Amino acid sequence: ATPIAILVGTGRAAQLGILVTGPAALESAERIDTIVLDKTGTLTAGRMSVTRVTPARAQDAEAALQRVASVERGSEHPIARAIVAAAGDGEVARDLEALPGRGVTGIVDGVRVFAGRPALAAELGAALSPELAAAVEAGEQRGTVVVAGWADAAGQPEVRVVIEIADTVRPQSAAAVARLREMGLEPVLLTGDNPHVARAVAAELGILSVRAGVLPEGKVAEIAALRAEGRTVAMVGDGVNDAAALASADLGIAMGGGTDAALHASDVALMRDDPRGIVTAVALSRRTMRVIR
Ligand code: ADP
Ligand code: MG
Repeated sequence: ATPIAILVGTGRAAQLGILVTGPAALESAERIDTIVLDKTGTLTAGRMSVTRVTPARAQDAEAALQRVASVERGSEHPIARAIVAAAGDGEVARDLEALPGRGVTGIVDGVRVFAGRPALAAELGAALSPELAAAVEAGEQRGTVVVAGWADAAGQPEVRVVIEIADTVRPQSAAAVARLREMGLEPVLLTGDNPHVARAVAAELGILSVRAGVLPEGKVAEIAALRAEGRTVAMVGDGVNDAAALASADLGIAMGGGTDAALHASDVALMRDDPRGIVTAVALSRRTMRVIR
Protein backbone atom coordinates (compact mmCIF):
# COMPACT_ATOMS: atom_id res chain seq x y z
CA ALA A 1 0.00 0.00 0.00
CA THR A 2 1.13 3.55 -0.65
CA PRO A 3 2.07 5.27 2.61
CA ILE A 4 -0.42 8.00 3.42
CA ALA A 5 2.40 10.60 3.62
CA ILE A 6 3.18 10.02 -0.05
CA LEU A 7 -0.45 10.54 -0.99
CA VAL A 8 -0.49 13.71 1.10
CA GLY A 9 2.77 14.80 -0.53
CA THR A 10 1.30 14.21 -3.96
CA GLY A 11 -1.78 16.24 -3.08
CA ARG A 12 0.38 19.05 -1.74
CA ALA A 13 2.45 18.90 -4.94
CA ALA A 14 -0.66 19.48 -7.05
CA GLN A 15 -1.49 22.55 -4.94
CA LEU A 16 2.01 23.87 -5.66
CA GLY A 17 1.63 23.35 -9.41
CA ILE A 18 3.54 20.07 -9.64
CA LEU A 19 1.89 17.07 -11.24
CA VAL A 20 3.29 13.76 -9.92
CA THR A 21 2.39 10.92 -12.25
CA GLY A 22 3.49 8.17 -9.83
CA PRO A 23 4.07 8.47 -6.07
CA ALA A 24 7.17 6.26 -6.56
CA ALA A 25 8.75 9.25 -8.28
CA LEU A 26 8.82 11.08 -4.95
CA GLU A 27 10.85 8.27 -3.38
CA SER A 28 13.61 8.51 -5.96
CA ALA A 29 13.54 12.33 -5.84
CA GLU A 30 14.74 12.14 -2.27
CA ARG A 31 18.03 10.43 -3.24
CA ILE A 32 18.84 12.77 -6.15
CA ASP A 33 22.36 14.22 -5.96
CA THR A 34 22.77 15.42 -9.57
CA ILE A 35 20.41 17.58 -11.60
CA VAL A 36 20.84 17.67 -15.37
CA LEU A 37 19.29 20.76 -16.93
CA ASP A 38 18.42 21.28 -20.59
CA LYS A 39 19.15 24.81 -21.84
CA THR A 40 16.67 25.89 -24.50
CA GLY A 41 13.17 26.19 -23.06
CA THR A 42 14.26 25.04 -19.60
CA LEU A 43 16.86 27.53 -18.28
CA THR A 44 16.12 29.95 -21.12
CA ALA A 45 12.65 31.23 -21.99
CA GLY A 46 12.62 29.47 -25.34
CA ARG A 47 11.06 32.61 -26.83
CA MET A 48 13.74 33.05 -29.43
CA SER A 49 14.11 35.75 -32.07
CA VAL A 50 16.05 36.04 -35.32
CA THR A 51 18.83 38.61 -34.92
CA ARG A 52 20.75 38.29 -38.20
CA VAL A 53 20.34 36.67 -41.63
CA THR A 54 23.49 36.19 -43.75
CA PRO A 55 22.76 34.94 -47.29
CA ALA A 56 25.26 33.29 -49.62
CA ARG A 57 26.63 35.45 -52.44
CA ALA A 58 23.98 35.89 -55.18
CA GLN A 59 21.30 34.61 -52.80
CA ASP A 60 18.37 36.85 -51.87
CA ALA A 61 18.04 36.90 -48.06
CA GLU A 62 14.26 37.31 -48.03
CA ALA A 63 13.67 34.47 -50.51
CA ALA A 64 15.96 32.17 -48.51
CA LEU A 65 14.22 33.05 -45.24
CA GLN A 66 10.83 32.28 -46.84
CA ARG A 67 11.99 28.81 -47.95
CA VAL A 68 13.43 28.05 -44.53
CA ALA A 69 10.21 29.21 -42.84
CA SER A 70 8.24 26.78 -45.02
CA VAL A 71 10.08 23.81 -43.49
CA GLU A 72 10.07 25.32 -39.99
CA ARG A 73 6.24 25.62 -40.06
CA GLY A 74 6.21 21.86 -39.44
CA SER A 75 8.40 22.08 -36.30
CA GLU A 76 7.40 23.03 -32.74
CA HIS A 77 11.00 23.90 -31.75
CA PRO A 78 11.52 27.43 -30.33
CA ILE A 79 14.01 28.02 -33.18
CA ALA A 80 11.29 27.17 -35.69
CA ARG A 81 8.86 29.59 -34.05
CA ALA A 82 11.47 32.38 -34.23
CA ILE A 83 12.14 31.83 -37.93
CA VAL A 84 8.44 31.60 -38.81
CA ALA A 85 7.75 34.82 -36.86
CA ALA A 86 10.52 36.61 -38.78
CA ALA A 87 9.17 35.41 -42.15
CA GLY A 88 5.46 36.09 -41.61
CA ASP A 89 2.74 34.14 -43.44
CA GLY A 90 3.64 31.65 -46.14
CA GLU A 91 3.37 28.11 -47.39
CA VAL A 92 4.13 24.86 -45.56
CA ALA A 93 6.67 22.47 -47.07
CA ARG A 94 5.66 18.95 -48.18
CA ASP A 95 7.27 15.71 -46.94
CA LEU A 96 8.35 17.37 -43.70
CA GLU A 97 10.80 15.39 -41.64
CA ALA A 98 12.00 16.36 -38.16
CA LEU A 99 15.58 15.48 -37.28
CA PRO A 100 15.38 15.80 -33.46
CA GLY A 101 18.29 17.78 -32.03
CA ARG A 102 19.56 18.40 -35.56
CA GLY A 103 16.96 20.31 -37.55
CA VAL A 104 14.25 19.74 -40.11
CA THR A 105 13.83 19.12 -43.87
CA GLY A 106 10.96 19.33 -46.38
CA ILE A 107 10.13 19.95 -50.05
CA VAL A 108 9.50 23.57 -51.10
CA ASP A 109 8.98 24.57 -54.75
CA GLY A 110 10.06 21.06 -55.75
CA VAL A 111 13.42 21.19 -53.95
CA ARG A 112 14.47 19.57 -50.68
CA VAL A 113 15.22 22.31 -48.16
CA PHE A 114 17.15 21.62 -44.96
CA ALA A 115 17.61 23.77 -41.84
CA GLY A 116 19.49 22.88 -38.69
CA ARG A 117 22.60 22.92 -36.54
CA PRO A 118 25.79 23.86 -38.39
CA ALA A 119 27.07 20.25 -38.20
CA LEU A 120 24.03 19.17 -40.26
CA ALA A 121 25.61 20.70 -43.39
CA ALA A 122 28.52 18.24 -43.26
CA GLU A 123 26.18 15.37 -42.31
CA LEU A 124 24.16 16.03 -45.48
CA GLY A 125 27.25 16.58 -47.61
CA ALA A 126 26.18 20.17 -48.26
CA ALA A 127 28.71 22.67 -49.58
CA LEU A 128 29.55 25.59 -47.29
CA SER A 129 31.37 28.60 -48.75
CA PRO A 130 34.26 30.14 -46.79
CA GLU A 131 32.15 33.31 -46.36
CA LEU A 132 29.28 31.40 -44.76
CA ALA A 133 31.66 29.26 -42.69
CA ALA A 134 33.01 32.53 -41.28
CA ALA A 135 29.44 33.71 -40.62
CA VAL A 136 28.76 30.50 -38.65
CA GLU A 137 31.88 30.97 -36.56
CA ALA A 138 31.14 34.63 -35.83
CA GLY A 139 27.48 33.86 -35.11
CA GLU A 140 28.33 31.15 -32.59
CA GLN A 141 30.18 33.75 -30.51
CA ARG A 142 26.90 35.68 -30.29
CA GLY A 143 24.25 33.00 -29.96
CA THR A 144 22.45 30.07 -31.56
CA VAL A 145 23.15 29.46 -35.25
CA VAL A 146 21.10 27.67 -37.91
CA VAL A 147 22.36 26.84 -41.41
CA ALA A 148 19.88 26.23 -44.22
CA GLY A 149 19.90 25.56 -47.92
CA TRP A 150 18.96 23.31 -50.81
CA ALA A 151 20.48 21.62 -53.84
CA ASP A 152 21.72 23.40 -56.97
CA ALA A 153 20.64 22.38 -60.51
CA ALA A 154 23.19 19.53 -60.48
CA GLY A 155 21.67 18.14 -57.26
CA GLN A 156 24.54 19.19 -54.98
CA PRO A 157 23.13 20.46 -51.65
CA GLU A 158 24.48 23.83 -50.62
CA VAL A 159 24.18 26.09 -47.57
CA ARG A 160 22.37 29.24 -48.78
CA VAL A 161 21.83 31.16 -45.58
CA VAL A 162 23.08 31.43 -42.00
CA ILE A 163 20.48 32.52 -39.45
CA GLU A 164 21.38 33.79 -35.99
CA ILE A 165 18.94 33.42 -33.13
CA ALA A 166 18.94 34.87 -29.63
CA ASP A 167 17.26 33.61 -26.48
CA THR A 168 17.14 34.99 -22.95
CA VAL A 169 17.86 33.24 -19.68
CA ARG A 170 14.68 33.02 -17.59
CA PRO A 171 14.75 35.57 -14.75
CA GLN A 172 14.06 32.80 -12.18
CA SER A 173 16.79 30.42 -13.37
CA ALA A 174 19.66 31.86 -11.29
CA ALA A 175 17.70 31.62 -8.03
CA ALA A 176 16.55 28.08 -8.88
CA VAL A 177 20.10 26.86 -9.63
CA ALA A 178 21.51 28.55 -6.50
CA ARG A 179 18.86 26.91 -4.32
CA LEU A 180 19.46 23.46 -5.88
CA ARG A 181 23.16 23.81 -5.05
CA GLU A 182 22.34 24.79 -1.45
CA MET A 183 20.27 21.61 -1.26
CA GLY A 184 23.39 19.63 -2.15
CA LEU A 185 22.58 18.87 -5.79
CA GLU A 186 25.20 19.29 -8.50
CA PRO A 187 23.79 21.04 -11.58
CA VAL A 188 24.90 19.91 -15.06
CA LEU A 189 23.97 21.88 -18.20
CA LEU A 190 23.17 19.58 -21.14
CA THR A 191 22.38 21.09 -24.53
CA GLY A 192 22.33 20.47 -28.24
CA ASP A 193 23.36 24.07 -28.82
CA ASN A 194 26.93 25.24 -29.42
CA PRO A 195 29.57 25.42 -26.65
CA HIS A 196 29.82 29.24 -26.69
CA VAL A 197 26.14 29.75 -25.90
CA ALA A 198 26.20 26.88 -23.39
CA ARG A 199 29.20 28.32 -21.53
CA ALA A 200 27.70 31.83 -21.45
CA VAL A 201 24.44 30.56 -19.92
CA ALA A 202 26.32 28.31 -17.46
CA ALA A 203 28.57 31.18 -16.37
CA GLU A 204 25.56 33.44 -15.81
CA LEU A 205 23.91 30.79 -13.62
CA GLY A 206 26.99 29.50 -11.78
CA ILE A 207 26.88 26.03 -13.34
CA LEU A 208 30.36 24.47 -13.52
CA SER A 209 29.58 21.32 -15.47
CA VAL A 210 28.63 21.84 -19.15
CA ARG A 211 28.02 19.37 -22.03
CA ALA A 212 27.23 21.09 -25.35
CA GLY A 213 26.55 20.00 -28.93
CA VAL A 214 24.86 16.85 -27.60
CA LEU A 215 22.34 15.00 -29.80
CA PRO A 216 19.26 13.33 -28.23
CA GLU A 217 21.00 9.90 -28.03
CA GLY A 218 24.03 11.66 -26.54
CA LYS A 219 21.80 13.08 -23.79
CA VAL A 220 20.79 9.51 -22.89
CA ALA A 221 24.48 8.48 -22.84
CA GLU A 222 25.35 11.39 -20.52
CA ILE A 223 22.63 10.33 -18.04
CA ALA A 224 23.89 6.73 -18.19
CA ALA A 225 27.49 7.86 -17.57
CA LEU A 226 26.49 9.89 -14.50
CA ARG A 227 24.48 6.96 -13.12
CA ALA A 228 27.43 4.64 -13.75
CA GLU A 229 29.44 6.92 -11.42
CA GLY A 230 26.94 5.98 -8.71
CA ARG A 231 24.94 9.18 -8.88
CA THR A 232 21.16 9.44 -8.64
CA VAL A 233 20.16 11.71 -11.49
CA ALA A 234 17.22 14.00 -12.13
CA MET A 235 16.81 15.46 -15.61
CA VAL A 236 14.77 18.53 -16.48
CA GLY A 237 13.74 19.19 -20.08
CA ASP A 238 11.05 20.45 -22.40
CA GLY A 239 11.72 19.18 -25.91
CA VAL A 240 11.25 16.15 -28.14
CA ASN A 241 15.06 16.01 -28.07
CA ASP A 242 14.95 15.55 -24.27
CA ALA A 243 12.31 12.79 -24.12
CA ALA A 244 14.61 9.73 -24.15
CA ALA A 245 16.94 11.29 -21.56
CA LEU A 246 13.99 12.21 -19.32
CA ALA A 247 12.76 8.62 -19.43
CA SER A 248 16.21 7.20 -18.61
CA ALA A 249 16.89 9.46 -15.60
CA ASP A 250 16.03 8.36 -12.03
CA LEU A 251 13.58 11.25 -12.04
CA GLY A 252 12.34 13.02 -15.19
CA ILE A 253 10.90 16.51 -14.77
CA ALA A 254 9.05 18.20 -17.66
CA MET A 255 8.84 21.98 -17.88
CA GLY A 256 5.38 23.57 -17.92
CA GLY A 257 5.61 24.81 -21.48
CA GLY A 258 7.15 21.58 -22.73
CA THR A 259 6.16 19.30 -25.59
CA ASP A 260 3.85 16.29 -25.15
CA ALA A 261 6.84 13.98 -25.78
CA ALA A 262 8.70 15.46 -22.79
CA LEU A 263 5.58 15.30 -20.64
CA HIS A 264 4.91 11.63 -21.37
CA ALA A 265 8.52 10.65 -20.70
CA SER A 266 8.58 12.35 -17.28
CA ASP A 267 7.65 11.37 -13.70
CA VAL A 268 6.88 14.91 -12.64
CA ALA A 269 5.42 17.76 -14.69
CA LEU A 270 5.65 21.39 -13.66
CA MET A 271 2.33 23.05 -14.40
CA ARG A 272 3.97 26.46 -14.50
CA ASP A 273 6.78 27.34 -16.89
CA ASP A 274 9.05 28.35 -13.99
CA PRO A 275 12.33 26.60 -13.07
CA ARG A 276 11.73 27.31 -9.37
CA GLY A 277 9.20 24.47 -9.58
CA ILE A 278 12.18 22.09 -9.76
CA VAL A 279 13.27 23.23 -6.28
CA THR A 280 9.74 22.85 -4.95
CA ALA A 281 9.48 19.31 -6.33
CA VAL A 282 12.74 18.15 -4.74
CA ALA A 283 12.06 19.91 -1.42
CA LEU A 284 8.56 18.49 -1.21
CA SER A 285 9.73 14.93 -1.83
CA ARG A 286 12.39 15.21 0.87
CA ARG A 287 9.83 16.47 3.38
CA THR A 288 7.35 13.75 2.45
CA MET A 289 9.89 10.96 2.88
CA ARG A 290 11.00 12.36 6.26
CA VAL A 291 7.41 12.17 7.49
CA ILE A 292 7.27 8.46 6.51
CA ARG A 293 10.31 7.47 8.58
P1 ADP B 1 18.63 22.16 -26.57
O1 ADP B 1 19.28 20.89 -26.15
O2 ADP B 1 19.37 23.36 -26.04
O3 ADP B 1 17.17 22.22 -26.18
P2 ADP B 1 18.18 21.23 -29.29
O4 ADP B 1 18.75 19.86 -29.06
O5 ADP B 1 16.70 21.32 -29.39
O6 ADP B 1 18.74 22.26 -28.18
O7 ADP B 1 18.79 21.82 -30.63
C1 ADP B 1 20.17 21.73 -30.89
C2 ADP B 1 20.51 22.50 -32.13
O8 ADP B 1 19.91 21.84 -33.27
C3 ADP B 1 20.00 23.92 -32.15
O9 ADP B 1 20.88 24.83 -31.52
C4 ADP B 1 19.86 24.17 -33.65
O10 ADP B 1 21.09 24.58 -34.19
C5 ADP B 1 19.46 22.80 -34.19
N1 ADP B 1 18.01 22.64 -34.38
C6 ADP B 1 17.15 21.88 -33.67
N2 ADP B 1 15.89 21.96 -34.12
C7 ADP B 1 15.92 22.81 -35.16
C8 ADP B 1 14.94 23.34 -36.08
N3 ADP B 1 13.65 23.02 -36.02
N4 ADP B 1 15.38 24.21 -37.03
C9 ADP B 1 16.67 24.57 -37.11
N5 ADP B 1 17.63 24.11 -36.28
C10 ADP B 1 17.28 23.25 -35.33
MG1 MG C 1 14.99 22.24 -24.79
